[in-house]
Amino acid sequence: MDNNKQSGWGAYKRLLSYVRQFWPALLLSITGFVLYALGQSAFAGLMQFLPAAFDATPEKAISYPLLDDYISLQTAADYRIFFPLAVGVIMLTRGVGSYLGGYYIVYVARNVVNRLRQDLFKHMLSLPGSFYNATRSGDLLSTITFNVEQVTGAATDALKVLVREGLTVVALLSYVFYLNWKLSMVFIFMSPFILVIVGVASRLFRKYSRRIQDSMGGVTHVSSEAIKGFQVVKAFGGRDYETSRFGKSSEYNLRQSLKLARVDEISTPIIQLLTFMAIALLFWFGLSPSIKGEMDTGTFLAYITAASLLAKPLRQLTQVNSKIQRGVAAAQSIFEIMETAAEIDQGSAEMINPRGLIEFRNLNFRYPGVEESTLSDINLRINPGETVALVGRSGAGKSTLANLLPRFVDAPLQQIFVDGVALEDYRLADLRKNIAVVNQHIVLFQDSVAGNIAYGDLADASAEAIEKAATTAHATEFINTLAEGMQTQIGEDGVNLSGGQRQRLALARAILKDAPILILDEATSALDTESERYIQDALETVMQGRTTLVIAHRLSTIEKADKIVVMDKGQIVETGTHTELLAKGGAYSQLYQLQFGGAHSSD
Ligand code: ADP
Repeated sequence: MDNNKQSGWGAYKRLLSYVRQFWPALLLSITGFVLYALGQSAFAGLMQFLPAAFDATPEKAISYPLLDDYISLQTAADYRIFFPLAVGVIMLTRGVGSYLGGYYIVYVARNVVNRLRQDLFKHMLSLPGSFYNATRSGDLLSTITFNVEQVTGAATDALKVLVREGLTVVALLSYVFYLNWKLSMVFIFMSPFILVIVGVASRLFRKYSRRIQDSMGGVTHVSSEAIKGFQVVKAFGGRDYETSRFGKSSEYNLRQSLKLARVDEISTPIIQLLTFMAIALLFWFGLSPSIKGEMDTGTFLAYITAASLLAKPLRQLTQVNSKIQRGVAAAQSIFEIMETAAEIDQGSAEMINPRGLIEFRNLNFRYPGVEESTLSDINLRINPGETVALVGRSGAGKSTLANLLPRFVDAPLQQIFVDGVALEDYRLADLRKNIAVVNQHIVLFQDSVAGNIAYGDLADASAEAIEKAATTAHATEFINTLAEGMQTQIGEDGVNLSGGQRQRLALARAILKDAPILILDEATSALDTESERYIQDALETVMQGRTTLVIAHRLSTIEKADKIVVMDKGQIVETGTHTELLAKGGAYSQLYQLQFGGAHSSD
């Protein structure tokens, strides 16, 4: 992930591009906050009339050039009505502004977060297998939950404060500059100090936030490992180990959070101090003879009120800065994932009803970051409809070879061909549509039995087709014993199924897919004889008429294969039929002796 580190600025820009999509709501919100900010300045402006109001008697009229065009305030009685009325109007405007601004900013923020989260998830699913191999799942999970939530915090509360108080600051500053620009130079003089402090604090906030996120990734990762592996943890006394691993991540999180809090709590009073120093300077200069002559009491009062009103929004802005920076740091890591290149899908060849001729031509493959080649000089041709059994010691490269075909892992170009066309020249979706995969590790989703069989592209399958697939996979027998049959909920929080039952569901899924190419990774674990017989039978049915690549552990599968390919250390060491290879007395015959003790299969 390091090679595409997002700059803080890049993350801002990209977040803004999300915000822009909801511009009408944003416009409403800004209008609201402008009203709110104007209300603040108007309140300070009211002070301008206070001395006159005090001076006014029933006889004495004071004229204000600006105001006189609209209303005429002349007597003390006029002022008694004007002030409450003005306060009322200002508060009402502020109230409406606050509502419009507040609601619509949250509307924008929640929508941004929603879109961001969906884009992130969608992008994650398009990432290549190599990405999943290289990234801890805990980090991914915490990015999609914790980091997105951090952006939410920044986008909702913080953005609201940023826009509302930011506009208030702008309005108040404009007002004081309008009243007396010379005196207002004090603010210009103070601003670099404030900016430097905000800048340094922001950088620190982002640094610590980044570490907090990483530690959350650790926390999620350790928990999910310990939860999924609870049996191993219990059986091997892993409690202390897991607890200390968890504690490390959690305490690292604590330390970084405290560092962040320290910067947060220091920067606010420093900026407050600077603000009040500015106000002190204002008094000093404002009461100096030269400036005093320029302003009447009312204007000076209004000026100081406006300047003092600046303190609160400035404080709120600094306080919210840590939240904003946390959001930006979170957005950075979200955008890093979103910038990781998706799977390469540049082929244009369609794959419609392929015959299923598979060829590996001088294939050489090495996993990224691994020194030795994982597969070398693989030459193998699997004719349409043939079954090829891959056998060999574990680590020989069988799974790797099988995973290259649906492009779970990408091989070098022009080394693997289906019907004479290189894999990468096909459209990726087309290629995968024509390959059914049954893995050892069967993944069932939290859904009904039917939903699990008709998963993904198969979701439109008719009930009859699902039923038929289940029957072919010998799954109907046990499905019928479930409380709600096909509609029984399975998956993590559903009915627990046995290993054999899960396998039969996976087979039913592959049968329903009805793809011309089949990749099977036989389970090594021993099943009871009954399940074994069922599964064997189901497997044979599935293989009929398809080009099948099977990582075989069962003698019966191996014996019936059209071709047995013996692999060792990433190479093909022997090819032939069961009888041929036995007669040869080479690697296969050794393996056969070792695994099956030379026994003949029972069927
Ligand atoms: P088999 O299926 O025959 O047991 P594999 O294809 O799983 O063998 O593994 C072949 C070799 O590739 C092994 O040395 C294994 O450690 C290595 N390997 C497997 N998967 C990866 C991976 N994702 N990254 C790096 N090396 C891997």
